Amino acid sequence: MANKKYLGFDFGGTKITAVLAKGNGDIEKRVEAKTRKLRGVSDLINQIHSIGQQFDDFDHIGVIFPAPLSAEGITLFAPNLMGWGSVDLKAKLEKAFQHEVFVDNDATAQAISVKLFDKGKKYRNFVYLVVGTGIGGGIFVNDEVYRGGKGYAGELGHAVILANGPVCGCGRRGCIESLASGRALARRAAENSREIRDSPFLSSIPLERLSAEDIFSGRRLGDPFCTLLIDETVYYLSVAISNYINEFDPEAIFLGGGLMKNDRSLIRELKESVDRELGKYYRDVPLIKVADKTVELAPVALAIYESSEAKK
Ligand SMILES: [Zn+2]
Repeated sequence: MANKKYLGFDFGGTKITAVLAKGNGDIEKRVEAKTRKLRGVSDLINQIHSIGQQFDDFDHIGVIFPAPLSAEGITLFAPNLMGWGSVDLKAKLEKAFQHEVFVDNDATAQAISVKLFDKGKKYRNFVYLVVGTGIGGGIFVNDEVYRGGKGYAGELGHAVILANGPVCGCGRRGCIESLASGRALARRAAENSREIRDSPFLSSIPLERLSAEDIFSGRRLGDPFCTLLIDETVYYLSVAISNYINEFDPEAIFLGGGLMKNDRSLIRELKESVDRELGKYYRDVPLIKVADKTVELAPVALAIYESSEAKK
């Protein structure tokens, strides 16, 4: 593993990032491109393959995808990419590359990266939650990634915490993703026109451009509506995290994603709220923020994990 090289693609709704790294996580080359999402499946496969042409000298390929995938590498539904119903992603990529390609859901691969390259090394059982535009997750049980019966496990963003809540991208109502993701935070703000008008900070921003980052900026400046919105977000996330703690009894909860980068105090606030929420089932489960590099190495970690598993 140490001498091998791994080519990883992070294939998201807005951009594709390719990295070439060694088994110890040292990145040797990085290429980024905008995702050509409007042109459909085969064009995107061609785009990934042509980015791959800029790399030579690699042993294994890992590709991560921003939606659920079966154990065979077939997509289920991708809310942020047009034209992706049931697509045999693994087979199409392998045909393009003429090489074995390991594929997985992005958050699951990030959890593997937490295990290989971050503080996850210390724990046999942990839950990883990525809170960004959407919310995803990955689970480690007894030192192995947990994929479930068909490979779809870890869709932690689609745990309902408010029955009859807002409609989610998955079609259900009240998923944690529909309440506490970056997109949900901006939407919850925009739904309150009077509060927006009265907010000294948000009133100057056009509604359609309002982002989660703006709301964090507003809170830093003491804007009461922004503070309320983030307090609610912390509460919703702590309800979900407490559920995961009760369900999986993890030794740690790892957190990644754009929303976690906005404020240093967020992790402490979340921990306090989780501790309250656990009630009589309280036990001390550390909440740990993952490094940016851990997320970047996710497709590489997937390729390392899967290629070493295959050798067993
Ligand atoms: Zn959902």
